[in-house]
Formats: sequence, structure tokens, C-alpha cells
Amino acid sequence: EDDINKIKPEYIKAFQFEHKLMPSTWIVVRIDGCHFHRFSEGHEFEKPNDGQALNLMNSCAVAVLEEFQDIVFSYGVSDEYSFVLKKDSQFCQRHASGIVSVIVSFFSSMYVMKWKDFFPQKELKYRPYFDGRAVCYPSTEILQDYLAWRQVDCHINNQYNTCFWMLVKSGKSKREAQDSLKDTQAQEKNNLLVQQFGIDYQKLPVMFRQGSSVFWDKGDEAVTYNNGPRVKLRKKVVVEHCNIIEQSFWNANPCILD
Ligand code: ATP
Ligand code: ATP
Ligand code: MG
Ligand code: MG
Ligand code: MG
Repeated sequence: EDDINKIKPEYIKAFQFEHKLMPSTWIVVRIDGCHFHRFSEGHEFEKPNDGQALNLMNSCAVAVLEEFQDIVFSYGVSDEYSFVLKKDSQFCQRHASGIVSVIVSFFSSMYVMKWKDFFPQKELKYRPYFDGRAVCYPSTEILQDYLAWRQVDCHINNQYNTCFWMLVKSGKSKREAQDSLKDTQAQEKNNLLVQQFGIDYQKLPVMFRQGSSVFWDKGDEAVTYNNGPRVKLRKKVVVEHCNIIEQSFWNANPCILD
């Protein structure tokens, strides 16, 4: 028993040295569903886009923003979400493993808790879990480029997936659909949708085309006090489907990344 007292805590703790994320930089935590190809098939998600599954993701992101007030903006598409922490955040003393693990586990448990609200008829058959990473962006411009990159990715994938699933639903095998889309340009895909299926890509739901942005916005909200209801100006978390590639979004919402 005496030997154990000889172990100095500082000596054991020295092994825990951990890289802290660079100070005064935007921290982005991107989470992504693990094996959601299988998860989405197992739960019979509509293809290419299951609106309820996206609404569930968005609802989890709202809960994350409400819980962790250092998160100022988030953007989600498919099974992924990017959370932006303010530059001067001291959340988890900026330890990457702390920040990532807390956000990933909170999001995963929200996903399970909210499943029934969005899929009352569907049993949760597989365990949803997410991977996560933290990346620092040293300037607002680079952060905006990061978010634009995710939205461009959303657009490219959605356009491809819309064509792919229309071809499959019209009787082609997955292999044939893949082959006929190989090396096609964006315009060719738009033409294919119009000519073969009468679909105007621009008229597809905006959430599918632009993904979802979740952020704090000010708005009137009825708050009930002990002495009766009153309208108070209170910030709340909103979900919007807007173009975040163009600078005009950031100009119109200067408070988000101020
Ligand atoms: P990994 O574990 O490497 O992330 P993954 O199977 O999750 O593998 P992703 O590249 O992340 O692969 O792609 C997510 C997949 O989940 C998409 O290909 C799509 O099939 C499916 N998916 C996610 N969300 C939806 C949704 N709302 N509607 C339909 N399918 C979805
Ligand atoms: P942090 O978010 O910083 O981890 P914390 O409140 O979780 O804060 P910890 O130092 O991790 O603080 O301590 C965990 C606390 O949870 C303990 O103080 C104890 O009160 C409680 N706890 C955890 N497991 C049990 C258990 N099995 N039985 C009773 N209490 C428990
Ligand atoms: Mg992944
Ligand atoms: Mg995934
Ligand atoms: Mg993904």
C-alpha cells in the first residue's frame, strides 16, 4: 500500500499531454454518420433524400446549439453536420478530444431520443453513431470557404443522386445508372432530369439542394411569466436553407461571425 503513494500524480498526468487547438481561430467540428449507407437502407429512407431523416438531423443540431452556447453556426447535409465554435471559445480549454467527444456523444444521444418523434412508425433497428474531427480556421474568409465547400459538395452529390435514383427507379440497375452518369457535366445532368423525367432541378425542395443552416437569430417569442404571458425579444435557434456560398448571406447576418 505504501508503494502506491510513491507514484506522483504529476508523473502519471505527464502522459496525458494533449495538443490544444490554436487560440483565436474558428473551430469547426464536423461529424458524420458511420455506415449511414447501410443505416439509411435498413430504415428504408426515401432515396435520394428522406426529408424526415434530414429534419431529425436538423433537430439534433438545434439541440446542440441550445446546449453549447459557444457554437455560433452549423451547416448540415446528408448524415453530416459542421459546428462552428466562436474564435475565442474556451470550451473544454480548447482540447480537441474533449470538444469532439462531447459534441459527438450529445448529437448521437439526441438522435436516438428524437427518433420516435420523426419516425413514429419505424423501429430504430441499428445503432446510430458518428465520427467527428476538429479543424481550426484562422480567418473568417477561410471559414466561409470551408462552409461554401460543404454546400458545393451538397449540390454536386444531390444532383448526382437525383439522377442516379431516377434512373434506378425507372428500371435501370445501379450499375447501369452509374455507368450512364460517368463523366457527365452538371448541365448534362440537368438536361437528363428535364428530358427523361420532366424534373426541373431548381424546383426540387430547397433543403435537398442547399442543405440546412442552423444559427441563433433574434425574434419575438412569447414567454410565459408567473404574472402572465408577455412578448419578449429573445434569441432563438433557427433552421434555414439558404445560399451560404454567396457573401450576401454573411452580409445580411453580420452578427453570426462578428
Ligand atoms: P462512412 O461511415 O464512411 O461515413 P457512410 O455509409 O455513412 O459511410 P457517407 O459518405 O457518409 O457514407 O454517405 C452517407 C450515406 O447515407 C449516403 O450515401 C446516403 O445513402 C445515406 N443518407 C444519409 N442521409 C440520408 C437521407 N436523409 N436520405 C437518404 N439517404 C441518406
Ligand atoms: P464534468 O462535466 O466536468 O465531467 P461532472 O459533474 O461529470 O463534471 P466528474 O468529475 O466527472 O464531474 O464526476 C462525476 C460525478 O458524477 C461524480 O461526482 C458523482 O457525483 C457522479 N457519479 C458518476 N457516477 C456515479 C455513480 N455510479 N453513482 C453515483 N454518482 C455517480
Ligand atoms: Mg465518414
Ligand atoms: Mg457517413
Ligand atoms: Mg456523409
